[in-house]
Amino acid sequence: MNKESIDALLKKINDTSTGAGNPRAKQVVNRIVRDLFYTIEDLDVTPDEFWSALNYLTQAGQSGEYGLIAAGLGFEHFLDLRMDEAEAKAGLTGGTPRTVEGPLYVAGAPRSEGHAKLDDGTTPGEPLIMGGRVYDDGGQPIVGAVVEVWHANHLGNYSYFDKSQAPFNLRRTIVTDSEGKYSFQSVVPVGYSVPPEGQTKQLLDLLGRHGNRPAHIHFFISAPGHRKLTTQINIAGDPYLWDDFAFATRDGLVPPMRKAEADEAGQFGLDGPFQKIDFDFTLLRDSTSLRTSEVDRIRAEG
Ligand code: FE
Repeated sequence: MNKESIDALLKKINDTSTGAGNPRAKQVVNRIVRDLFYTIEDLDVTPDEFWSALNYLTQAGQSGEYGLIAAGLGFEHFLDLRMDEAEAKAGLTGGTPRTVEGPLYVAGAPRSEGHAKLDDGTTPGEPLIMGGRVYDDGGQPIVGAVVEVWHANHLGNYSYFDKSQAPFNLRRTIVTDSEGKYSFQSVVPVGYSVPPEGQTKQLLDLLGRHGNRPAHIHFFISAPGHRKLTTQINIAGDPYLWDDFAFATRDGLVPPMRKAEADEAGQFGLDGPFQKIDFDFTLLRDSTSLRTSEVDRIRAEG
């Protein structure tokens, strides 16, 4: 079919709208349908291919993998880059870079002041102490900022989704102290890959891509009057550091990790060598000219 015929068909479909509906939904859906009609025409998509794709989407929905697919196809990173651009246009720069949230946050983690231990002592791995301050974009420490942290265990699995771990293992909420400081004790996480039998893996295989993520630690940082920061830090030296299937690694989010010896361990209540990461977060001040950086999406609740 030529474009004129396709456009005539699209108009016929769109003209069946007799109610106000939701103007935004109309705008977006009609645009996506048009782009897909053009795609089917331009690439001569067969009925078998179309129904195979529809079947695939049904399965992906049933297995709850859309969050992973959104990350793997670069949508989540793209949305981040658009938010960066909006902030830069509003004159907001200099904050800690944001990066993807991913689909594995769980609300309701135990809360503590200043410091937290993220595991119950049964998670294997090299001990890790990470800490620093939360600053505003004028360089002042923020007292009472909320640092939500979550990461995978030594097998690359997240508590709640992995029922073999205790509830909220490797998940905590830390409120910065009177000097704007936060710190936590945990174990060094390892990287992980998408589920081997899932629809994300199936899609990535078809695209000739891998589904690996380098080791990382997730954060939400929030404080009144500031834009909420969604970010991660990466563990330096990971083989997939700059080859993340979710495109989440960014300059400024790869702090050095240094081996601390036993003589430093006492001050952290440890009795042997451990890894140490120092990392400060900087939040941008809120701006009324911008949409909120709080992203509304369905999240698990523990
Ligand atoms: Fe993750």
